[in-house]
Amino acid sequence: MIKTITSGEKSISYELTYKNVKNINLRIKSDGTVMVSANPYVPIGIIEKFILSKQDFISNALNKLKNRPSPTQYYTQSQIKDVILDICKSVYPYYEKRGVKFPEIKFRPMTSCWGNCRSVKGILTFNTNLMYAPLECIEYVVFHEFTHFLQSNHSQKFYEELSLVCPDWKDKRKMLKDIHI
Ligand SMILES: [Zn+2]
Repeated sequence: MIKTITSGEKSISYELTYKNVKNINLRIKSDGTVMVSANPYVPIGIIEKFILSKQDFISNALNKLKNRPSPTQYYTQSQIKDVILDICKSVYPYYEKRGVKFPEIKFRPMTSCWGNCRSVKGILTFNTNLMYAPLECIEYVVFHEFTHFLQSNHSQKFYEELSLVCPDWKDKRKMLKDIHI
């Protein structure tokens, strides 16, 4: 639930979730949302006091986010789909040999992931925000999603499979983590 506390002229909006945490945790999401999780036994007054004690931390973090340079756009909205589709076609022969049918490829802007594989239905969905990622990272995302046809979860076996086709997947994943849209 979204809540707001006001102290003097300032007000802080935050999203509160009750979880089985020790006391209270506070973090700032990359979109600037202040996330607070608290144990259900902690009274709301204590939660608010805690958040107010973190005011400086919160405003510093939000300022940093505001001043962050906007991400480099590598492709236009209309190019990105073709770029991804071309990569899908070029990596497919490897997966075809492994018995994978060419999937239905979908695109949409997403906020929480770069791609998604519905292995049973044979659908791969890619985030159109990949236009803010360099080609090598987009290739990694395509390999990652195709590999889900071989291993549906993120098991050790999944990463073993992924390493065969994309040995430096860790670097690529890290690069993607640093892209903030
Ligand atoms: Zn995955």
